[in-house]
Amino acid sequence: MQQPIEHNGERSRAQGSGLTPLQALTRDAVALANGVPVLTAPEAEVARQMQICNACRYCEGFCAVFPAMTRRLEFGKADLHFLANLCHNCGACLHACQYAPPHEFAVNVPQAMAKVRGQTYVDYAWPPALGRLYQRNGLTLSVALAAGLALFLLLALAANGTLWGGKRDGGFYALFPHNLLVGLFAPVFLWAVLALGLGVRRFWREVTPATTGQPVRAPAAAEAAHDVLRLKYLDGGHGEGCNNADDAFTLARRRAHHLTFYGFLLCFAATSVATVYHYVFGWTAPYDLPSLPKLLGAVGGVSLLLGTAGLFRLNLQRDPQHGDAAQKPMDLGFIALLFLTSASGLALWLGRGTPALPALLAVHLGAVMALFATLPYGKFAHGIFRTAALLRHAVEKRQPNRLGLDAD
Ligand code: SF4
Ligand code: SF4
Repeated sequence: MQQPIEHNGERSRAQGSGLTPLQALTRDAVALANGVPVLTAPEAEVARQMQICNACRYCEGFCAVFPAMTRRLEFGKADLHFLANLCHNCGACLHACQYAPPHEFAVNVPQAMAKVRGQTYVDYAWPPALGRLYQRNGLTLSVALAAGLALFLLLALAANGTLWGGKRDGGFYALFPHNLLVGLFAPVFLWAVLALGLGVRRFWREVTPATTGQPVRAPAAAEAAHDVLRLKYLDGGHGEGCNNADDAFTLARRRAHHLTFYGFLLCFAATSVATVYHYVFGWTAPYDLPSLPKLLGAVGGVSLLLGTAGLFRLNLQRDPQHGDAAQKPMDLGFIALLFLTSASGLALWLGRGTPALPALLAVHLGAVMALFATLPYGKFAHGIFRTAALLRHAVEKRQPNRLGLDAD
């Protein structure tokens, strides 16, 4: 069966699919009559490119996308959403492709996948009405939000007369009472968890039938966890790394991702241990070395700082052909907030015992609050959706290939 394309702007979409507008409209009408979801223009473009790749298969060993592709002859909406989130945007298949632009086939899988991937974050967002926030979430908004929240807290300190040097011996909670901080941060954090959890549940329900529908078993879960934790598909398929600025391989992106990912996890672990200290043992912050929260926070903070600085530099150097330019502000906004959170956290630690501690605390809290507030509708989603896609891929590859053309 042919794939339908969206009605609005059918001329350009038809061109993207190699169809005349009349053919495209006819195809859409048939699809609608059969109850098949109509593809958007970016989805139709990925479907077109996958048909070419399925005949070529040169890139089969590069990543999980191509083996998953060979299990399909047609690409419905759910297949495309699954494949788009399976793609790690490593760029390898663009630089290897004999049909890449300026060839008339104009195959650019990383860019086509990136556009659909960005669309899936919006489509599956919970609540759906807030999905548009993904398109507004950018560098300026992120930094402005962090600055605005920090300014609000700085003004609160100034109003109390504790902005400079005040009550620094009484710990953080002498400046901002513990219950006030919990009241501010807990709802924002829980909202982020709820929104991301329900969003990825919608994605999972859509792609599960398209990926055999089989349940997750331990071997598949173990393989997916391994691939996520090692960021396996940023190695280019040969271990030398992915492409970034040009056709040279580099491991820098994988390393910067690792530093960021594990730095974030360590900082989260530090906060979790500190919560246990507070509620179970009655030991209140701030903690210092060699306490476990400080140890985790210091190592995690430095790792996050180095990782995000690396990601920022790599993002600016990135070959524009790899990605979707419209999503670059969202990428940079998330990286900037992670950087600000780690930098202000480390500055807070270094500034302990100085008159600047209250102001540093306000800046750090503003950055953390902005990070949490933008978490459910920003770049953070890529880690969650990609993990779900890798899990479905690990399940699917364990099932017989119904086409009998198994590339796994
Ligand atoms: S990206 Fe190009 S070289 Fe790779 S499988 Fe597709 S058509 Fe072939
Ligand atoms: S960009 Fe990389 S991860 Fe994405 S399909 Fe191409 S080779 Fe696979």
